[in-house]
Amino acid sequence: MNSRALALVLAASLTGTSALAHVIGEPAHDATARRFAREFSAPALALAAAPVAVRTALFVSPALPAPPLFAVTPAAAAPPQAAAFAKFAPTVRIRWDDTHLHVESSGLPAHGMMTGITAWQQQVPLPQPYTGANAWRIPLRPMPAAQPVLIRDRFLRGAVALAANGIPIFNPQNNRGELSAQIGELDRWGGHCGRADDYHYHVAPLHLADILGPRLPLAYALDGYPIHGLTEPDGSKPTGLDVCNGHSTPELGYHYHASNRYPYVNGGFHGVVVEREEQVDPQPRAQGVRPALTALRGARITGFTAGAEHKDNLLTYTVGDRPASIRFVATAPDTWHFTFTDPAGKIVEATYRAGDRRGGSGPDAGKRKGGNADRNRPALRP
Ligand SMILES: [Zn+2]
Ligand SMILES: [Zn+2]
Repeated sequence: MNSRALALVLAASLTGTSALAHVIGEPAHDATARRFAREFSAPALALAAAPVAVRTALFVSPALPAPPLFAVTPAAAAPPQAAAFAKFAPTVRIRWDDTHLHVESSGLPAHGMMTGITAWQQQVPLPQPYTGANAWRIPLRPMPAAQPVLIRDRFLRGAVALAANGIPIFNPQNNRGELSAQIGELDRWGGHCGRADDYHYHVAPLHLADILGPRLPLAYALDGYPIHGLTEPDGSKPTGLDVCNGHSTPELGYHYHASNRYPYVNGGFHGVVVEREEQVDPQPRAQGVRPALTALRGARITGFTAGAEHKDNLLTYTVGDRPASIRFVATAPDTWHFTFTDPAGKIVEATYRAGDRRGGSGPDAGKRKGGNADRNRPALRP
């Protein structure tokens, strides 16, 4: 256990349907978390009925002496699906109700981003409001479907899975049906940004195993079944994988495996999902603050650095031999100031505010595509 503060947030579920405690922390903290949950389960219930302004959060250091244990009805233990996400606390926050684990994140990973992309839509990583009613939802009791449904040429919009670090995983095909991993669209970590400047993967993030270890899954498919890495927890190769790249073992039950070639992630859904408008439904929506742009031919992203809390960011790229950059800085909540330095050295500044997406004045504002631009979707190719 490290010294990271354990935050126990007592509040009604933001969906308004649950009054369970919010537990944020690492698995090693869970025993402590449960003790606190027991202590505060009654106040939590009372708070659920209180006005919103009364809802509160308690930040409890694990260094504090644990409160005495009383013979009260134990709060529900964290569901097993919580363990992988808890590895990324406090940036990833989890809560649960009877049916789902709710996962909140800003959509920005702790690792680098963007470097290595050679097919780029001029998008950059901006934080996303995957919180409250717009959080990710993982079914706690996945139901096998009567027939598995493959994701090839289906579910081309939105996520098919959620990585343990709170980053969505989209179909390995982009929404034109091309394999993102094979056409230069992805960075060294398997991700890029969509039309809402929303960062997401198109392959399983195998690198997260460095943090998760060999036993925890890298991700959960949105049907609720876990996605493990290239091997079983004991290091052996998976055998007998089905059309969805999954199988059942005595230790793990049904689970998928990532792969280094198609489908990279779950090749389909073994479990029941609802498909609506080409995506798993429901799922959170990304929120763009500036117009979606078009492909910049010949561009290669050479670097990306994020300042504290991702509030000051610099993306560098080249077109041919000529360097260019985009600097974007949060100047107020939901307000971003962009400085575009193009390959010719021309500088253009623009400010964008959330909820004001069509009011931007960036260098390509006049060329943007219309349509339901706030939908969570993969980047378009020219
Ligand atoms: Zn397996
Ligand atoms: Zn994409």
